[in-house]
Amino acid sequence: MAAFCRGKHRLKSIGCLHTSTRNLTGKFDYDVVVVGGGSGGLACSKEAAQLGKKVAVLDYVEPSVKGTKWGLGGTCVNVGCIPKKLMHQAALLGTAMKDAQKYGWKIPGPASHDWATMAAAVQNHVKSLNWGHRVQLQDKKVKYLNMKGSLVDGHTVKGETARGKETILTARNIVIATGGRPKYPTHVPGAEEHGITSDDIFWLKESPGKTLVVGASYVGLECAGFLTGIGQDATIMVRSIALRGFDQQMAGLVTGYMEAYGTKFAWNCTPKKVEKLPSGALQVTWINSSTKQEEHDTFDSVLWAVGRAPESQLLNLEKVGVQLDKETGKIVVAPDEATSVPNIYAIGDISQGRPELTPTAIQAGKLLARRLAGDSKELMNYDHVPTAVFTPLEYSCVGLTEEEAEQKHGKDSIEVFHAFYKPLEFTVAERDASQCYIKVVCLREEDQRLLGLHFTGPGAGEVIQGFALGFQCGATYTHLLNTVGIHPTCAEELTKLNVTKRSGLDATVTGC
Ligand SMILES: Cc1cc2nc3c(=O)[nH]c(=O)nc-3n(C[C@H](O)[C@H](O)[C@H](O)COP(=O)(O)OP(=O)(O)OC[C@H]3O[C@@H](n4cnc5c(N)ncnc54)[C@H](O)[C@@H]3O)c2cc1C
Repeated sequence: MAAFCRGKHRLKSIGCLHTSTRNLTGKFDYDVVVVGGGSGGLACSKEAAQLGKKVAVLDYVEPSVKGTKWGLGGTCVNVGCIPKKLMHQAALLGTAMKDAQKYGWKIPGPASHDWATMAAAVQNHVKSLNWGHRVQLQDKKVKYLNMKGSLVDGHTVKGETARGKETILTARNIVIATGGRPKYPTHVPGAEEHGITSDDIFWLKESPGKTLVVGASYVGLECAGFLTGIGQDATIMVRSIALRGFDQQMAGLVTGYMEAYGTKFAWNCTPKKVEKLPSGALQVTWINSSTKQEEHDTFDSVLWAVGRAPESQLLNLEKVGVQLDKETGKIVVAPDEATSVPNIYAIGDISQGRPELTPTAIQAGKLLARRLAGDSKELMNYDHVPTAVFTPLEYSCVGLTEEEAEQKHGKDSIEVFHAFYKPLEFTVAERDASQCYIKVVCLREEDQRLLGLHFTGPGAGEVIQGFALGFQCGATYTHLLNTVGIHPTCAEELTKLNVTKRSGLDATVTGC
């Protein structure tokens, strides 16, 4: 036994007790074992390996309820940011084609969209990213194990292959980065049997057809938005408000644009049941809380976008003593990503209170790796994280919503500068720009420090990404005004804001 365990860097079978190994040698198989090979886990493992640590990463994708599977890279690469943005681009091109004719392009016949072509192209790109991640891990000498991980104790992870073969790994430090998965409602008969989620939509070989998207989170709006843009009949069912947690004036502009764009909204409606008719169509019955009536319609697909659940259930976390938030089931973490168990850390979507975004998971993973390698003491700064919503009219923001600013500083202590502007590109194309809007929330007194920037319009994420730097540096309204614009862009409008909401003056930008 001792002789077998002396080859400590080999993966050991369950029969070879990990505790004996550790007690005998006082060492571990790895410096860091990461469970979850998504945005955060991959970034953390690569960075730690680069800093000379011996690292293994376990990644395992449990097929969706519908049986959809994908490769290495986690949510963002496979069923999130990447396929979503590419399908959003497909939709934007449809709008661009309409605009093109106003700009002199002759397009023979009505344009039509082929889902299978788009899906195959997007899926091929995703597969190339899966491959790229594997190559990177190999190049950086990170051991990749296509296994489902769970904790055995504070220094031990059990890996299990799809076929049930188990492996034990010991590690000085363990990082949990298992992300989350979309939820199905539990109280709606037929929801799981007949519905799909964001885990499936990007991998469909055929068009989802007439689709009901239940839920007005950013995921719901984005999916319904690109479906509308590529010519599908899409309806969003909203129980109460859209884009909860975002600035609600901006949310209204986003949904207002979508309604004008052709996305249907079933406001104040709650699904009751989903039934499959003999024709194969899905009949959805819902309660309209405005009319108190029961209503129904048929769809080809029902996509649930009703939130995400953390992948914390099968990790054996509580048994090892890792504290979970009772409400969310996420892992409770300290500012240094430490959990309640020494040497066990959690990053990304699985950790309580963190933004559910790829760049924060990546940055947190890298910084944690540097700290674990003794290379740095720097903590992740979760303040002022910019974000974008890729709806037909894009929305991006950084900092506080107007509601949050009012709550934090008091209505009288904040100033809101705003403008309705018309992107130059919209003019010749004769597109309606009613929802293209910029709002800057700042302190009213002294240096008028910026509290929040909000922008709807073309390339919103590209615009706010740049301004987010200024925001990190503590920019003020004066800094904004002293910034020379780049003409003619939409972003320059941010540097010209001079009408306050308080004044009640018309905020429409005139002239060029
Ligand atoms: C539709 C959609 C669109 C999105 N769009 C954006 C966007 O535009 N911009 C943005 O910043 N963010 C976006 N996000 C969010 C972003 O994808 C996540 O915040 C990010 O992927 C979180 O990274 P993570 O490392 O925490 O987890 P994940 O990327 O989810 O990775 C976790 C990995 O761990 C694996 N795993 C789980 N349990 C185990 C286990 N026991 N053992 C081994 N492996 C396991 C999972 O299969 C997965 O591969 C989007 C999300 C969705 C759903």
